[in-house]
Amino acid sequence: MQELIGRCTCCSKELYCLDGFFNGVQTEEKELYCFKCHENLIVNKENPQS
Ligand SMILES: [Zn+2]
Repeated sequence: MQELIGRCTCCSKELYCLDGFFNGVQTEEKELYCFKCHENLIVNKENPQS
């Protein structure tokens, strides 16, 4: 079963729940990201550009 949850905030990729497994990440701010964009988000948080 495949359920559309929403789109990645960053790249607009469609994110699905596949058999109970969500192929993306929801942040504390309730924003949806695909794994790739979320990875970039974490890198940017750990290494903020000043
Ligand atoms: Zn994305």
